[in-house]
Amino acid sequence: MIVADTIARRKRQQGVPTYFLTGTDEHGINIERAAERAGRTPQQQADYVVNYYKEMTDQFGLDTIHGGFDVFMRTTAPFHYQGVSELWRRVAKAKTPKGNDALYKGHYEGWFCAPCAEYKTEDEYIKAEGEEVPRCLIHETPLDRVSEESYFFRLSDYDEALLALYAQPDFVRPETRRNEVAAFVKGGLQDLSVSRLKTSVSWGVPVPDDPAHTMYVWFDALTNYITAIGFGNEEREQVVGFDKFWPALHLVGKDILRFHAVYWPAFLLAGGVPQPRGIVAHGMWLDPNGRKMSKTLGNTIELDVLKRHFSVDAVRYFCLREMVFGQDGRFGYEGLIDRTNSDLASGLGNLSSRTLTMIARYCDGRIPSGKIAEDKLLMAKRTGVDTDETTIAGFIETARNEYLLQFDNLAFSRALEVLWTIIARVDKMISDAKPWDLAKDENQRQTLNAVLYRAAETLRWLCVLLYPVMPAASAEIYRQLGLTESPAAIDPANLKWGGLAEGTQLGEVRPVFPRIEKAKTMSAIKQGSESAGTGSGTHATEADAVPGAAPVKSPAPEQKGATEADAVVGVATFIEIGDFAKVDLRVGQVVTAERVPKSDKLLLMNIDIGEEKPRQVLAGIAEYYEAEKMVGRKVVVVANLKPRKLRGYESQGMVVAASVGEGGSLLLLPSPKTCRTALA
Ligand SMILES: [Zn+2]
Repeated sequence: MIVADTIARRKRQQGVPTYFLTGTDEHGINIERAAERAGRTPQQQADYVVNYYKEMTDQFGLDTIHGGFDVFMRTTAPFHYQGVSELWRRVAKAKTPKGNDALYKGHYEGWFCAPCAEYKTEDEYIKAEGEEVPRCLIHETPLDRVSEESYFFRLSDYDEALLALYAQPDFVRPETRRNEVAAFVKGGLQDLSVSRLKTSVSWGVPVPDDPAHTMYVWFDALTNYITAIGFGNEEREQVVGFDKFWPALHLVGKDILRFHAVYWPAFLLAGGVPQPRGIVAHGMWLDPNGRKMSKTLGNTIELDVLKRHFSVDAVRYFCLREMVFGQDGRFGYEGLIDRTNSDLASGLGNLSSRTLTMIARYCDGRIPSGKIAEDKLLMAKRTGVDTDETTIAGFIETARNEYLLQFDNLAFSRALEVLWTIIARVDKMISDAKPWDLAKDENQRQTLNAVLYRAAETLRWLCVLLYPVMPAASAEIYRQLGLTESPAAIDPANLKWGGLAEGTQLGEVRPVFPRIEKAKTMSAIKQGSESAGTGSGTHATEADAVPGAAPVKSPAPEQKGATEADAVVGVATFIEIGDFAKVDLRVGQVVTAERVPKSDKLLLMNIDIGEEKPRQVLAGIAEYYEAEKMVGRKVVVVANLKPRKLRGYESQGMVVAASVGEGGSLLLLPSPKTCRTALA
């Protein structure tokens, strides 16, 4: 989404009519089942997940108000139903390139669980060794092979047509992915089941003129790219404009490339709709060690942590700079801090603040003239400053052209690398010229002015060039330069050296990228994730929509009326009273306590909780409680926590503590005598 947002902003700078679409696919059996598990209707389930996405896009400035997407497309929109139905009708009438009907009725076959009353997908059944018939994961009973009537799309007739599309340069990028897709097509295409009986999958778009069927979710979902701009709906077409914005560029994850590069072009061919401009598959974020991110490994990046500790622009910059677009990238908080500090705080931010501060100090806060008069040239030359400003102007122009070329080729990382050569060059110019020395000599006034002008003019260029990547920071530096228009509306290709007017009064100068204290921030992030408990997200995620990704839960016990616990405020996620009842809390007395060698945090304790012998428990409280003072103290212990090993010691339980303040210290519960109410 960040990449799409960046491209859209660049296009708008160029004055290209741009429509940026993102959104959610909301139909299908997976959402139907997730809704059922959550006790919601499918529409409520979709609304719930969408709310989370909307909140996230607002927070990261990707929404319409912040200049981001033009539409958050939901496939439950009524105009979408109309558009999809139109495409279906066209496909139903179409002939394949080989002269057959593109759509025909056949039979879908699958594994069916009678107790569940549903077909099972591959990750919902197990097939034991030596057994022919798989078993339901929930019921562990053998499944039935069942077939039902279904519409089929004659995909097998489209192989040559698809291969011809892949032969066009840039239809599928990057090349490695195009080769994969082409190999898949050459391997032989099967016809595609594109409908299900409503009795099997009811949450979907009804098949036109045959309401006993609902459409295959991908047929409906992919079509959102054209229904959003008015395909099949005149009203929508007038508001947005199908001819104006189609064909479009698709940016998709590599895991869904097949749907976009095989099925979608084939549907469009059958429907007589022009092909997209191109399909670009991007890679995935891995952790700093190159492992896949997963909740189980605890190496995921949490959006609320990003939001709390980093500026949105820093996150955007990191995403574009760190990942070679098209390949997988590595994402870790430490890397993000390092990049922010080196490239933004010490790089762009420092260039901006040193330049503007010097102009404020030496030039009364007004942009000086960049010209050195004839009679001062010799003086200037003695300082080593290049008196010919076209040298640096030429360097920056060349870098600008290279940047735009790389950017438009979607090589964002390389493009940004090029821009940072400008920063390095101008930084060096300032350090070599030593304006603070020039300022001491009235005869070097024009030399000083010229150096500062060049730095300020460079900043103006950087703001315009970087606006698509870092909209807020660019606008802020632009404002500090005293410029009133917005870099959002300037085409960087039109920048001319010398455009910054002499005499412009600077705005208030403030640091744009404060340095991040690495150790402090990392420990705050770590503590935050520990107190939140890894894996206990408080938001809806995609996992909510995908069964199999979330553990199958037995139905929650019925609630028996409100209790005092319901009155507790500030709790983001609720657990049932039954969940709480599972926790065995005991008050115990610390018998022995010592620090774990080489650990700043861990105390190793033996705690008497009234069992045959004391429990060995490790607790991360060493920073706040001295070992000696723990002996004899009463603590609350979670007695039925699964034992685990820490630093070679087995911990047979957990001591309950509270964290005070954001990333603050840990407090043990007061002696239980004084807090009976809290424990009751
Ligand atoms: Zn079952």
